Amino acid sequence: MRIQIANSIRTALLTICALAIASPAWPQTADTILVNGKILTVDNQFSTREALAIREGKITAVGSNSEIRKQAGSQTRVIDLQGRTVIPGFIDSHMHAIRAGQTFTTEVNWVGATSLAEALNRIHEASLAMKPGSWLIVAGGWKAEQFKEKRRPTQADLVAAAPNNPVYVQLNYEWEVMTPAGFQAMGINSEADLPRPGRFEKDASGKPTGAIENGGGFDVAIALFDKLPHPTFDEQVEGTKKFFRELNRLGLTGVGDPGGNNVNPENYQPVFKVWRDHQLTIRVAYSLCGPTAGKEFEELKSLTQMLPQGFGDDMLKFNGLGERITWGMNNNNHPTADDKEKYYQIVRWAAQQGMPVTMHWPNDGTADTLLSIYERVNAEFPITDLRWSVAHLTNASPENLRRMKAMGVGWTIQRASAASVENAKELGIKMGEGTDAHRVASYNPFTELSWSQVDSKRAGGVQRGPEQTPTREDALRAYTIGSAWFSFDENKRGSLEPGKLADLAVLTKDYMTVPPDEIGSIESLLTMVGGKIVYAAGPYARLENGPQQSKR
Ligand SMILES: [Zn+2]
Repeated sequence: MRIQIANSIRTALLTICALAIASPAWPQTADTILVNGKILTVDNQFSTREALAIREGKITAVGSNSEIRKQAGSQTRVIDLQGRTVIPGFIDSHMHAIRAGQTFTTEVNWVGATSLAEALNRIHEASLAMKPGSWLIVAGGWKAEQFKEKRRPTQADLVAAAPNNPVYVQLNYEWEVMTPAGFQAMGINSEADLPRPGRFEKDASGKPTGAIENGGGFDVAIALFDKLPHPTFDEQVEGTKKFFRELNRLGLTGVGDPGGNNVNPENYQPVFKVWRDHQLTIRVAYSLCGPTAGKEFEELKSLTQMLPQGFGDDMLKFNGLGERITWGMNNNNHPTADDKEKYYQIVRWAAQQGMPVTMHWPNDGTADTLLSIYERVNAEFPITDLRWSVAHLTNASPENLRRMKAMGVGWTIQRASAASVENAKELGIKMGEGTDAHRVASYNPFTELSWSQVDSKRAGGVQRGPEQTPTREDALRAYTIGSAWFSFDENKRGSLEPGKLADLAVLTKDYMTVPPDEIGSIESLLTMVGGKIVYAAGPYARLENGPQQSKR
């Protein structure tokens, strides 16, 4: 007995010695500490802390200033937050970021323009910066309501802004306006030259206004966009880097990219190049769409043969199929039996392969079509652990939400109805917030969060009633750890807790306490991805010394 005890003490002592030798620097000093802040950790209790320590890209501790200062050594970088608010980096669960990046340096962007005059001036500025005769393209991402003039641009506005350029301005997928030079460059001389079912918009006297009405659906906008010149590969790489930096400026550190229209395998090469060069500043989890109508299944099988679910690293990884699995079921509320069968075959195979599926489905009234197929698959190959999701479904009914919950299906939300979100929360459905940028919406998370608090459609942007306002806490949760769930990353990022990746943003204003109508103007002053500074401004600008390599 005594010998046994002695032996165990000896073993214990040896173990302690071995540990001491294995980690001589314990407690390890931090690379960086952030002190004097209001750090919204977005942990389970939504705790607020003063300070945070980072080592080798990960958070090692959060706590009080004095606790965290103990982790600093002579080499540690100390960042004084001076009372500022820190959040986990935003993760947009549904952003067409790969597509947006490719054209970011060759398109004109109307995001954040508060007047039509300002928007038109951006076209004018671009016309001066670009070669004479270059196309000036605004490919969506704006709404007339964002302008104080509350109207769309006219052809005459565009001609005045850029008399010598072909100009193309797209509104969602429903409407375009071009200058005469634009129509000429595209070879559109009469209505017959328009992709179907597009028509010329006409004024009261029957004269064409210079705008195109798309007549519902996405086909006209997609066909017109395809006629525009494509940026070179180098422009696409440059655009991707600049777009991701623009996202960093707004506190974003991650996106779920759902493929989408006009995105084919070759369109992934610019983001792959940025990743290879260790220059990604946004973590990307991407899903694949079936590129060619009628060939979706064979193409997806071929594309993913060497691409197992989750393949990649913390900066870039493959995350299954979506948001369009087949063309037949794309934006089609009444698919044929054949459409449904083809779709079923593909998602059944995805379930067998252990892949997530995310599906674009805006209309709650017809969601039964989709959910019935999910249920049929689930009965054969359970999908409950595969994190399938439905995107959009803005007015999700309790009935459909219950069906989703039963299969562990999550919901990526963009301006979803407050009542639906409240129901989903009660049911415990996983929700990831996002924008669906950039063609149909701005990519700015603060615009999105502001919308959830302020009704911008009503005069003066009045604050919503409590019955239609999610708490700021819930909205932030959905935009961080909520979105992380969809790429199986909630234990790695989405909150500021020890062991997690140091992805965070220091904000210009306190998101939790500013008046609702100021939320939309918040930006980041300092954004970190894996502990590296990817964006810094104002008092922190000097901390960012040139383009840094993001850590894999
Ligand atoms: Zn979609």
